[in-house]
Amino acid sequence: MPFHKVGVDHLFIRILGAHNEESKHTKLTSLLIDDKIAIDAGSLVSEITYEEQEKIKTILLSHGHYDHIRGIPSFAFNNRHQTTKIYATTETFKILSSHLIDGVIYPEFTKKIPFFLEKPSLKFYNIEPFNSTHIDGYKVVAIPVNHTIYTIGFEITNKNRKKAFYSSDTGPGLSAIWEHINPDLLIIETTFPNKRENRAINSAHLCPKMLKKELIELKKIKEIIPKIYLIHLSPRYEKEIRKEIKEIEKDLNISINICCEGDKITV
Ligand SMILES: [Zn+2]
Ligand SMILES: [Zn+2]
Repeated sequence: MPFHKVGVDHLFIRILGAHNEESKHTKLTSLLIDDKIAIDAGSLVSEITYEEQEKIKTILLSHGHYDHIRGIPSFAFNNRHQTTKIYATTETFKILSSHLIDGVIYPEFTKKIPFFLEKPSLKFYNIEPFNSTHIDGYKVVAIPVNHTIYTIGFEITNKNRKKAFYSSDTGPGLSAIWEHINPDLLIIETTFPNKRENRAINSAHLCPKMLKKELIELKKIKEIIPKIYLIHLSPRYEKEIRKEIKEIEKDLNISINICCEGDKITV
């Protein structure tokens, strides 16, 4: 899809980080919608230029784990000439402001700071689950998912009614959320391989076997399965996960994509 179409008809999604561990070739979870809204900030600054950062006026945060918020202080520092809006739950704000932008590790970017910040470089907006919020011309609905701390996924709808849902980190039991969303594209986590199912259950993540159950449930409710991209893979198990996903594709007769850093997805 050519760049001039961005934000007009289609949703254009860039994957900045697709993993839960960082290395030279794997980056922490972060994506961009139409180059102007960021979702999660694991690798928000390291994967884009200053010019690209300047275009981002809004960041949506799913939860307060480090691999999803870590880029926030660096982003606020780099872009301190502007005020960036952050939408998240109060739980996530508390984590961010008490552990990261706490005035010790990083400046309190939500305040004016003499001789440093003429105006706050971050402004927090509380997002209520299940309510539609209009943000920069998009409809955004936050949907609570099942994780070890309070976590929300986001359904984003553009003016042309193209919809994408990002699950963020979640364990099983998503049947309750399927009735609230109707995405053309589902970006859902799969962190572990099947042999680590217990670890997935204990840390509230998914493995392919668990994902399959969720997709079968989704098909029962919606009758169709949307385009699927997997995210938040553990790099050390990625080969195994890919193999196990191929089996699910055959069993369910669907195709499942696996996100990579730098991927561009058009909905
Ligand atoms: Zn998490
Ligand atoms: Zn995570």
